[in-house]
Amino acid sequence: SKEKGKNQYTLCSPAMKEEVLQKTQLTNSLYRALERNEFVLHYQPQVSVSTQEIVGLEALIRWNNPELGMISPATFIPLAEQTGLIIPIGQWVLETACRQIKEWQVMGLPPIRMAVNLSLVQFQERNLLSLVGGILNETGLEAKYLELEITESAAADGEDDIVHVLHELKELGVSLSIDDFGSGYSSLSRLKTLPVDRIKIDMQFVRGISTGNKDEAIAKTIIQLAKNLELQVIAEGVETASQVEFFNTYKCDEIQGYYFYKPMPASEVEGIF
Ligand code: C2E
Ligand code: CA
Ligand code: CA
Ligand code: CA
Repeated sequence: SKEKGKNQYTLCSPAMKEEVLQKTQLTNSLYRALERNEFVLHYQPQVSVSTQEIVGLEALIRWNNPELGMISPATFIPLAEQTGLIIPIGQWVLETACRQIKEWQVMGLPPIRMAVNLSLVQFQERNLLSLVGGILNETGLEAKYLELEITESAAADGEDDIVHVLHELKELGVSLSIDDFGSGYSSLSRLKTLPVDRIKIDMQFVRGISTGNKDEAIAKTIIQLAKNLELQVIAEGVETASQVEFFNTYKCDEIQGYYFYKPMPASEVEGIF
C-alpha cells in the first residue's frame, strides 16, 4: 500500500543510512582497538573532605582512534556492551588499573584505592570472580585497594545472580561502590541486600545544588541515608567552591570533580603526590 511504501522510504532515509554507516564504522574500529593499543586509562583523584588528601583514583577509559579521533566512553561503552566487546575491554581495564596502582605503591606513592567501572554485562559473565582473583594474584595487588563501581541501574537489575557475585567479590576482599546513586532506579530496598561499601551521589544532584532547592534536599538525604546504613558516601562532578562547602557542611566523606582534579594520564598522577 501507499502507507507502507511511505514507511519503507522513511526507514531508509539518508540520515538513518548515515547513522547506520557511522555505527558500523565505529563498531569495526572498536573490534580492532584493543590489538592496536588505542585505549588508554586516565585517572581522576578522589579527595577526603576532612583531610583534603587523595584517598583514591577512578580509572576512566579513553579511546584515541587514528581515523576517528577521540571517542567518548559515553559513546563507545554502550556499543562495546551491545557487541560483547566490553568483556575483553573490561578485562584490559581491570588489568591495567591494578598493575598501575601496584606499580605506584612499589614506587612509594601513598597506598590508595583504585576504582574500576564494571558494566552489568561483565557481572553477568560467569567467570568475573576468577577474573578479578586472577588479576589480583598476577599483579600482587592487595584486594582491599581495588574498588569495583557498579551503576545503580545495574545493581537494581532483578537478577539475584548479581547479588551473589557481589557477595563473592566482597569475600575476596575488594570493595564495592554504587555509581550514579539516585539516578532513577529505586534501589532503596536493594541497598539492604547489597554488600556495598560506598555510594556515589549522582552528578545531576551535585550540578543543581543551590541553597534551599530540591537537588540540595536530595543530596542531603543521600548523605544521611549513607550514614544511617553505615556506608561511605562520595560526591562526584564537584566543580565549584560552594559545592565543596556544601559537602563539607553536610559531612560527605569524599569528593571527586574538576574543582580538585580532572581525569589525567598516568604520567601526571605521579606529580600530584
Ligand atoms: P562515570 O563512571 O559516572 O564517570 C564520571 C564521569 O564524569 C567521567 O566521564 C568523568 O570524566 C566525568 N567527570 C568527573 N568530574 C567531573 C566534573 O567535575 N564535571 C563534569 N562535567 N564531569 C566530570 P567520562 O570519563 O567521559 O566517562 C563517562 C562514563 O563512561 C563513565 O561515567 C562510565 O559510566 C563510563 N566509563 C568510563 N570508563 C569506563 C570503563 O573503564 N568501563 C566501563 N564499563 N565504563 C566506563
Ligand atoms: Ca564511575
Ligand atoms: Ca557516576
Ligand atoms: Ca554515569
